[in-house]
Formats: sequence, structure tokens, C-alpha cells
Amino acid sequence: MAEIDKERVLSELRRIAAPDGRGNIVSAGLVSEVAIDGGQVMFALNAEPAHMKSMEQLRIAAEKAVAGIPGVTRAIVALTAERAASRTPGPKASSAGQLRNGVPGIKHLVAVASGKGGVGKSTTAINLALAFKTLGLRVAVLDADVYGPSMPKLFGLAGKPEASDAPGKRMKPLARFGVEVASIGFLIDEGTPMIWRGPMVMSALTQLLREVEWSEADVMVMDLPPGTGDAQLTLAQQTPLSAAVIVSTPQDLALIDARKGLNMFRKVNVPVAGIVENMSYFVCAKCGTRHEIFGHGGARAEAERLGVPFLGEIPLDTEVRVRSDRGEPVLEYMPDSLHTAVYRDIARQVWVGLEGGQLGRPAPRIVVED
Ligand code: ADP
Repeated sequence: MAEIDKERVLSELRRIAAPDGRGNIVSAGLVSEVAIDGGQVMFALNAEPAHMKSMEQLRIAAEKAVAGIPGVTRAIVALTAERAASRTPGPKASSAGQLRNGVPGIKHLVAVASGKGGVGKSTTAINLALAFKTLGLRVAVLDADVYGPSMPKLFGLAGKPEASDAPGKRMKPLARFGVEVASIGFLIDEGTPMIWRGPMVMSALTQLLREVEWSEADVMVMDLPPGTGDAQLTLAQQTPLSAAVIVSTPQDLALIDARKGLNMFRKVNVPVAGIVENMSYFVCAKCGTRHEIFGHGGARAEAERLGVPFLGEIPLDTEVRVRSDRGEPVLEYMPDSLHTAVYRDIARQVWVGLEGGQLGRPAPRIVVED
């Protein structure tokens, strides 16, 4: 199949008017570098944070226009709040992982991390994974949270994995919602008190990466243990991560923790795809009023200050918690919700970053004092 012509993509995009009478979206400088990989076309549209809502219509129009070009099998357009001018194209995201051995059949390994527990890291990980799936990607989830593996619960999966007959493999992953899952919970008996040291975490994780009979996947989402201690550092250092997503609540304390997470990944040269603000604000189901319980917006400001993309804000929602705890993830059970839209938005941005080579920009140097 002939390679898709970038000029053809741009000429389709030039038919789409930019907001405020500023010509078309290409001439107005809203379109990032266009990445083409086989039949897949990806790019970002840069939007001011205040105009995200109206830009969504342009995003859909751009995706449609590109999807209509003969030979295009998948068009993914993400909205980012970053200006084109400030983007310095970095090395392709996967180059960070080339130093270490990749996992055969898995194109990108994306870690979801947080500075501390209870901020919604695992909830973000499962919904991000399911959001990737809605983009037409093949997805797997690896639950590496040694302190509290929660993927079996969040996926509503009970039972033990089956043994595998494949050479060199020990077990098959479990699967639900079209996503394969393996959890560190499979390797330990529930209720056995354990102290995990770095090397033990690493050998358990190596088993999950190499000895599980994974199918091929475009992206594997890895739920890391919360925190920035030795165990996390070892994982970040020794797994072939393409990128990391950091989850934080807006509280100051959590943000300081998020900064530590950021630093940890920078130390080991793993590109940070961005920060997600979870439990960002609360919309009262009865009166519709928006309550900014933890002082909303902290993560966005912090991300800007630290020079990493801000990926989105996820509201606090009682139904999300109740359903999550029942193994009913938002993406599957609340498909028309704002949450689903935000997770899909985050997934698009991360995917465009991974495939479009826009991750791994040189980051400002930050020193954290302990
Ligand atoms: P972590 O992995 O950071 O420890 P979890 O994802 O397990 O955090 O979330 C902790 C608790 O908060 C869970 O009960 C989860 O259902 C709930 N939770 C997470 N995100 C939200 C949200 N946006 N709205 C409401 N509850 C949430």
C-alpha cells in the first residue's frame, strides 16, 4: 500500500476554518507535526485551555476529514493545550525504551504512576486502557501495584489464571472488555503479609512481562505501585517504558508528590506524557453546582510550571466510585459521561505523543529537596 502523503493530509485540513476568522487550522498554526505510520495518521490540534470545548468540534471535523483520505485506516487527533511553537520535536518516544529490551509483541508500555496512594491511579489506569481500546487499539493491562493490586477488582475478574502450554510461558492472562489483564495479585496469595524489596518486585514483574502469554498489543498500561521509593524507581529503570502518566489530586500535598514522580521518571529518562488531575471538582447531582473541594486547577498550573503536558481533569463523582468498586469501569458502564469523554481525550493525547514522536522533549531540570 502506498504511503499516505503528508501534503494530502494537510490539504484536507486546510479546508477547515480556524476559530475567530484566523484562516484555516493549518495556516493558523494549530496543527502539530503530522505523524504517519502505515495507514495510521496522528497529530494534535493546539487549543487554548479556555477554548477546549469549541475546539472539540474542530477535532472531530479534522479526524473525519483525514479518515476520508483513501488508504487511511485510523485517524487520531488529540487536543492539547500546548502551543505549537513551544514544541521542540524530541526523539521518538520509544527510543527511551530501546536501551532496555522491549516486550515482544507489545508496542508501547505506558506506566501510570502517582506520588502517593488513594489519588485514583488505578481508576485512571483501567479507564485509560479502555479508552485506548475505543480508539481501535489493542490493549493489555499489567497490574504492578505490589501494595494493593486492584485490577482484578476493577475489571470484575475473579479466579486464577490458567497455566500456559506455550514455550517459556507460565500462565495466560485473564481478559474482560476485550482487554487482557495480569496482576501481581496472581503471583501472591491474598492475605500473605509481604515486604516487597526492589529486587523481588522486579522479579515478579519480569514474570508478568515475560512469562504471561500476552497477545500482541499496541499499548500495555502498567499500574505502578504508588509512591516514588526504591521499588518504583527500579520498575521505572528496568522496564522498557515508552512513557509515564502521572495522576494527582489538586491538593498541594499531592502535587508535591506528583513532582517527585516526575523527577523519578526524568532521572531514568522515561518521557512523562503528562499529568492528570483526578477528583478535580465535584458536580452536585441534585443542584448541578460545581464544588471545587480540593482547590481545582492546581495540577494544570503545576504542569505548566514544570513544562509537562496537562492531560485533563477528571471530576469527583460518587457513581464512579460505586461502579469502580463493583468492577464496572466508567468507559464501559457510563459511555456517554463526561468522564468517558475526558479519558478518551487523555488517551488520544498519549497515543499521539507515543506514535507521533512528540514525547521525550528535553525537560527543564528540577531539583527536589527531600
Ligand atoms: P490509587 O490507585 O491511587 O490508590 P484508586 O484508583 O484505587 O487509587 O482510587 C481510590 C478510591 O477513590 C477508589 O475507591 C476509587 O473508586 C475512588 N475514585 C478514584 N477516582 C475517582 C473519581 N474521579 N471520583 C470518585 N471516586 C474516585
